[in-house]
Formats: sequence, structure tokens, C-alpha cells
Amino acid sequence: MAGLVIANWKMHGSTAAVAEFVDQWNRLPPLGHVDTVICPPYPYLAAVADAMTGMVLGAQNCAEADQGAFTGEVSADMLADWGCRYVLVGHSERRSLYGEGDAQVAIKARRVTAAGIKAVVCVGETLDNRESGGHEAVVGRQLQASLAEVPAAELVVAYEPVWAIGTGRVATPEQADGMHAVIRAHLHEQYGDAGNDVPIVYGGSVKPENAAELFQCPNIDGALVGGASLDAGSFWQIASAMGAGRA
Ligand code: PEP
Repeated sequence: MAGLVIANWKMHGSTAAVAEFVDQWNRLPPLGHVDTVICPPYPYLAAVADAMTGMVLGAQNCAEADQGAFTGEVSADMLADWGCRYVLVGHSERRSLYGEGDAQVAIKARRVTAAGIKAVVCVGETLDNRESGGHEAVVGRQLQASLAEVPAAELVVAYEPVWAIGTGRVATPEQADGMHAVIRAHLHEQYGDAGNDVPIVYGGSVKPENAAELFQCPNIDGALVGGASLDAGSFWQIASAMGAGRA
């Protein structure tokens, strides 16, 4: 499979920043052997979709409900209608800051895949979980609870250790690859051979300086990139490192 590198801008950006990013991105050479997805905040989806070449559109979240009186919410169907092809579900910031649990993650993932687009289901352990040796069990439970009724063909799993997100503290290649192997085994158990084709991407302080080393790991199919995705040149370098690994 081609690599997959996803930009998560979180709540960053402005009309000017989008224009600058797009202008820089569109001047960079085309990438091979890697698919790139950009998840800007909702108000900038249109500007990004209209102007950017070579990237697929994604969103950072969606509603649990499909439609109705849910002020401030945006449904998976609306995002699909808008042209989004991926939606992040269960990002650790949604879990820790907004109290989203596995049950909500499961509903959202089903909504996204029912809309005919891909759910990027984020899982990952806290530092306490890792230091106590419970990290594999925690991630296993998150997968078990989140993936019911989510078809393998519409699924991406993002392994994002909470202690590595936005901290500058990246998992070692051995830590990341080891957990990806655990996730792959879980996917195989749940989906059979179809589970082997589900991309498993790593997220947590990925930067141009550490990307190539991570992407050499056999079980890492790409990255979910936060901070470094705000700069077109840095994001391109990360995606390029992934493409080089898959050439
Ligand atoms: C993320 O937001 O999913 C993320 C991995 O952020 P960062 O790359 O900044 O750690």
C-alpha cells in the first residue's frame, strides 16, 4: 500500500495562513508512493479544497448524530457532501478535553464509514499506562470498543501515545513499531486478511528530523502530524520521507 500522511491543523489557521500554506505547497514537487490528507478547521475546508493540489480533504471531528437540533455540530454526511474523504475520530484531545469515550468514538466511526468515507480512529496510552506496563492492554481495549461495525475497507488506525502528542517527545521507532504490530494482530483477529490492508499511522511529535527513522519500521504505514503540518515545507518533507520508504 502507498504511505498515508495526514495533517491535523487542530484549531490553528487564518485566511492568510491558509493562503500562504497553499501557495507554498502548490510550488513543491509532486510526491510519489504516498497519499496526503489535510484536516484544517471547518471554516477553512472550502479555501483548502479550492486551492490545493495533490491533497485529499479531511476533517478533525464529526457529530455523533446524523442530523437535527444539535447546534454547533457538523455531521459525517455533511463532511462527505463537502468533499472530505477522511475524518479523525477519537483524537486524544477530544477524549481528554471533551470527555469522549470509546462508545462515542464507536458511534462516530460508524457514522463516518456509513457516509462512505474513511474513519481515522485514534488510539493511544497515557504516560502512566506505559510506565505501568499497561499500554498494550489499554490500546487493545480502545480498539475492541471502537471498531465494532466499522468496515476494514473504510478504516485507518492512528496510534498516538498521549505522552508524545505536542510534547516534542517522540516514541522511539521500537516503541512505535511494537505497538503497531500489536494493533495489526488485533486487526487481523477482527477482520481476517482484510485487517492486513488497514493503514496504521503513527502520531506524536513527528517532524522532518525523525520521520525517516520512523518510516523505516515495517509496521508503520504513515503519520498523523500536528504541529509540523502547519508548515508546508515541513509537512512535504515528512510526506516525502514516507514516499521514499515506499518507492
Ligand atoms: C496530533 O495532533 O495528532 C499530533 C500528533 O500532534 P503533534 O504532531 O504536534 O504531536
